[in-house]
Parts: sequence; structure tokens; C-alpha cells
Amino acid sequence: MGRTIAVVGASLAGWSACVTLRSGGFDGRLVLIGDEPHRPYDRPPLSKSFLAGAVGADVLPLATREQFAEVGPDWRLGRRATSLDTARLDATTVTLDDGERIEADVVLIATGTRPRTLPGQPQATGLHTLRTLDDALALKPELAEGKRLVVVGGGFIGAEVAATGRELGCEVAVVEAQPLPLADLFGERMAETVSGLHEAHGSSLYLGVAVHEVLVSGGRVRGVRLGDGRELPADVVVVGIGVTPNTEWLRGSQVALDGGVLVDAYGATSVPGVYAAGDVVRFPSGRAGAHVRIEHWTHARDHGAAVARAILGVGEPYDPLPYVWSEQYGTMLQFAGYPAADATVALVEGDLAERRFVAEYLRDGRRVAVLGMRSPRTFTRIRKELSRA
Ligand SMILES: Cc1cc2nc3c(=O)[nH]c(=O)nc-3n(C[C@H](O)[C@H](O)[C@H](O)COP(=O)(O)OP(=O)(O)OC[C@H]3O[C@@H](n4cnc5c(N)ncnc54)[C@H](O)[C@@H]3O)c2cc1C
Repeated sequence: MGRTIAVVGASLAGWSACVTLRSGGFDGRLVLIGDEPHRPYDRPPLSKSFLAGAVGADVLPLATREQFAEVGPDWRLGRRATSLDTARLDATTVTLDDGERIEADVVLIATGTRPRTLPGQPQATGLHTLRTLDDALALKPELAEGKRLVVVGGGFIGAEVAATGRELGCEVAVVEAQPLPLADLFGERMAETVSGLHEAHGSSLYLGVAVHEVLVSGGRVRGVRLGDGRELPADVVVVGIGVTPNTEWLRGSQVALDGGVLVDAYGATSVPGVYAAGDVVRFPSGRAGAHVRIEHWTHARDHGAAVARAILGVGEPYDPLPYVWSEQYGTMLQFAGYPAADATVALVEGDLAERRFVAEYLRDGRRVAVLGMRSPRTFTRIRKELSRA
């Protein structure tokens, strides 16, 4: 095994890999490169408890000071990897934005994703996307009582920001281009139940209509114009319309890219000695019958660890049952499985109208996914059974 491993991307997948490399006995040089100035931290609270002010930044780090020291990476924070030179057989070189070149025996790519923006999206005060701690710090002070918040996109991040906005006393409108948010994942009936949370908590939903233009006056956002000509006034606009994998820096390398970094079941890319993990990868899933990219916390953590084990020579093929949770308007939502819009839905327990239930998705009579709202116990039991299947 090599004596230098460079991990590019200092977040959940990258950090999880570092922890596993050390606990698996790697005692060589471990370089951890991240373009954010912060040590690895947790993103889920950024749209929920941290944004709401219920917890501070002190709860976000993925490890304690002692744990960070124990793993002991050679930190390169606030530094962006700009290219990967894979031409040499004996080493791979990562070049950073300040010109530093790091030669490594093994490179792990864990550069994640960044928010997509609207076509022609302007720069304006009050116009936000949300991915990083710095994004959340910029958005947080704007979500004050009585502010008009327009959220573009009704996916998980959009819905969570809308819910937090309501909690903070904002007037909230959610605009979703699809007829129903998250219907591709949950199917129509369940998506309707889930998105019903918005109106039940006083947010307005604009469905099946896209934002045509963000309206700006004097450098400050003042609203959005919808595709049908309607204008929604806003003090704050948050765009949550999905993400793009951070792969541009790999363009000159021989690492195969296709909607993310392509890897095999062990996280190996097309270049020997170069691996990738987390939100940035597309990996082959037997469960899904396709190459997939997963954008959930549990995947990033587990994939980072799985690929580290492969680097250590003790890997196993990775093909998990995807799992995501979300918290909106104080309601815990959990889903496990691949998108199941075409499957038949059967209620296992609870009541849709009360928004406390577990529903399973069946295809050809076989259970393929499970959705739970405020019912973690039964949900977890079924998720475990499905994972083993
Ligand atoms: C606001 C928010 C809330 C979320 N809530 C949930 C939730 O409730 N449940 C759930 O399952 N999932 C949730 N997620 C998703 C989860 O956080 C992600 O799946 C996870 O962070 C992915 O980890 P990653 O390490 O693969 O990538 P990322 O977390 O995206 O980290 C990649 C890191 O690499 C850095 N980087 C990129 N390019 C370079 C470069 N060239 N050089 C150096 N560094 C680079 C990035 O800046 C970033 O720090 C949430 C995400 C967000 C943003």
C-alpha cells in the first residue's frame, strides 16, 4: 500500500474515509484537501436546527478536536484542487490553486456537489443557495419575522428551508416546476401527502410553474416572475433546484466522468490508484439495475468508509439500500429505496390524513421501498428487512 494518500474534499465522505484508513491501520501520510475554510462538518442542520437558530455552529463538526488530532491528516483547508495529473504510473499529482503539487500513491476524490442555479441567475443581495456553512451564515440573518421568503424548488432542501422560514415567522411561498414536489421519488399519492405539510403550516405552494426570472432592484432581490407571468414579491429568495457534481477540476485527467465520477463497486475509477466516494460518484447498483448517484448523508458516510476499506485491500462490493431522512415543520420523514413512483403503495400502519404512517412500495408483489412519517420504529424495522433482501 502507498505511503501517501491524498483525499480531495474535506466533508462527510472524505472524512469518513480518513477515519477508516487510520482505524484500518494506514499510518502513512494522509493529506486532506478542502476548499472550504472549515474542518469537516455536518450539513443537515444547515437547513434545519442551525438555520432556525436552535443550535450553534459548535454542534456541526464531524469530530471532536481530539478525534481530528488522532486521525491527524495533513490539512490543506481553504485550498482548491485545480487538476489531477494521472499520466505517471508511479504517482498521481494533485495540484492546488496556490500552485502546490501533492504527489500521492493513492488519491480519493470526494468533492461532492454544489447547488444548481437558475439560467441567467443574477447576483443580488437576498438571493441565496444553500450548501455550505458560509451559505447558511449568510441566509440565517435574513429569515426574520414578517420577511417574504420565496423558495424555488420543492425538493428536500427547499422544503426544509421553507419550513424553517415559517418557524421563524416568514411569509413563505414555494415554487415547484413539477406538478408535485418529490413525486419522482414517492409517487403521486405520497408526494401529495408530504407536500401537504406546506399548506398545513401556512406556506403557499405554486405547482407546475417555473421561475422565469429573479427580479432585482438596486442590487437587492425584490421577487420572482413565474413562467405564467405572475410576480411573487420577496425579501429573500432561496434557490434549491438540485445539485451538480464537482468534477470540473478532473477534466484534463484520465478519470472517466459521466454525470459524476464513474467508479466500480469498490470505488475505483478508470485510473489505477484513483478512487472516488460520496455524492460525487456514479456507481453500479445491482439493486437499481443502473449506475446511480446518491445525494444522501448515509451514503456519503458509508461510501467513504467502504472505499477506504477497498484502498486498504479489504473492500467489499458496495450496493446499499439508499436512505434519506428529512425534517419539515417538525415532522420527521424517512425514505429507503430507489425512486418508486411506478410501484404500488400499501399502508403498513398509521393514517395518511394524520401524517403519521408507514407505507411500503411493491413491484411485482415484492417490497422495494418504504416511506415513513413520524413512525421511526416500524420504518426502521422494514428498512432493515429491505437492506438484507
Ligand atoms: C443543507 C443540507 C441539508 C441536508 N440534509 C440532509 C438530510 O436531512 N438527510 C440526508 O440524508 N442528507 C442530507 N443532506 C445531504 C448530505 O449532507 C450530503 O449527502 C453529504 O454532505 C455529501 O457528502 P460528500 O462528502 O460526498 O460531499 P460534500 O458534503 O458536498 O463535500 C464535498 C466537499 O468538497 C469540497 N470541494 C469541492 N471541489 C473541491 C476541490 N476542487 N478542491 C477541494 N475541495 C473541493 C466542497 O467544497 C465540499 O466541502 C443535506 C445537504 C445539505 C446541503
